[in-house]
Amino acid sequence: MKIKVFIGLAAALTLAACTQAVKEPTPVYVWHQISATPNLDSLQHVFHVWRSKGVTGVCIQTASTDQIEEVAARAHKEGLEYHAWIPSMLRKGMPHEWYAVNRLGQSADEYPVYADTYRFLDPANPEVKEYLTEQYMTVAKIPNVDYVRLDFMRYPDAVLASGLAEYYGLSDVEGEYAPADYCYCPTCIETFKQQTDIDITKVEDPSKDPRWAQFRCDQITLFVDKIARAVHELGKKVSVDVFPGPNSYAEHMVRQQWNQWTVDMFFPMNYNEFYGEGLDWLNTVVAEEVEGAGNIPVMSTLRTTLHKNQEGQKVEARNFGLSPEEMKTAIRNSLSSGAKGICLYRATRMSEEHWDALEEVLKEFGSSK
Ligand SMILES: [Zn+2]
Repeated sequence: MKIKVFIGLAAALTLAACTQAVKEPTPVYVWHQISATPNLDSLQHVFHVWRSKGVTGVCIQTASTDQIEEVAARAHKEGLEYHAWIPSMLRKGMPHEWYAVNRLGQSADEYPVYADTYRFLDPANPEVKEYLTEQYMTVAKIPNVDYVRLDFMRYPDAVLASGLAEYYGLSDVEGEYAPADYCYCPTCIETFKQQTDIDITKVEDPSKDPRWAQFRCDQITLFVDKIARAVHELGKKVSVDVFPGPNSYAEHMVRQQWNQWTVDMFFPMNYNEFYGEGLDWLNTVVAEEVEGAGNIPVMSTLRTTLHKNQEGQKVEARNFGLSPEEMKTAIRNSLSSGAKGICLYRATRMSEEHWDALEEVLKEFGSSK
C-alpha cells in the first residue's frame, strides 16, 4: 500500500514538474513615468502590487537621472527587472546645429512637425552621438539598472499611421510628408553625395530613391550599435521601443530597420488602432516581428485605455487603447504568435478590470506569480 502511495505521489510530482516546464512564467512589463518628487515608499508599494499581479519588469521614465539609483533599488527589492527609459532623438534645449533639418530646409528645433514636442536631433551628427552615448553609459553604470531602454530612436514619421493622419487632418497625404522627411542638413547631403554621387537636393522626388531611404535607416542602425557596444562593455543590456514590422511599418515610416540592430530586447508598439486595424492584426504583425528579431526576445507592447468600456467603442486618437476584454485577446494573439512576453503602456491606463483581465489571461500562458 505504501509503495502504491509513493508511486502515485511520484507520478503527481512528475506531472506537476511537466506542467511547470510547459508554462514558463510570461515576462510582463509595464511602462511608468514618475514625478520629480516621488514618494518612494508609495512607489515601492505600487511595485509590490504590480509584482503580485504577474508583472516581472518595469520600464521607468524618471524626471532626472539622479532618481534612477533609488527607484531601481526599490524595483529590485520587489523582484522586478529594471529598464531605465530614456528618450533619445526627441530632445529639448540642445544646441541648434544638433537638430535634424527637413526636406523644406526647416530645423526641427524651430519648426517641429506635427506637435511642438516633435524636436528631433540628427542621428548622423557626431556630437549628438557622443553626447547621447555618454548619457546612456552614465545610466548603465547605475547599480540595479538591468537595461537602458532607448525610446524615440528614430526619425520623425515621414509617413503617419492612418489613425494619427486622421487625427492631424493629414489623411490626404500620399507617401512621405515633406515637412516630416529628415535629414537634409549640409552634412547629411554631403555624406550621401560622397557615398553615391547623388545630390539629393537636385532629385525631384527624394522619397522615390531607395538609396536615400537606406542611408537614413543606416544612420539609426549605426547609432544604435554604437550605444549598444558601449552599454554591453559595461555589462548591461539594451532594450528599445520600435514601430511594428520592421518591414511593414517601421522602415518606411520612421527609418527603423530594427531587425539589423544588436540590442537585447525589442518592445514593438503594436497599437492596432493607430493603423486602423483590429486585434487579428496582432497575429500577423507579431509573427513578422519575431522572425525579424531572430534570437532577440520580442515583448509585444499593448496600449490600454480607461476611455473604452465596451469592445468596439470608438474613442479619439489620444485615448486609443484596449479595453480589458480587448487586452485579453491582444495578449493571447501576441503570445500565440511568438512574442516572448508583453509590455503594457501604461500603468496609469490600467483599470482594476485590466489588472484582473491580465491575471486571468496569464493563467493560460504561465504567470510568474
Ligand atoms: Zn543631418
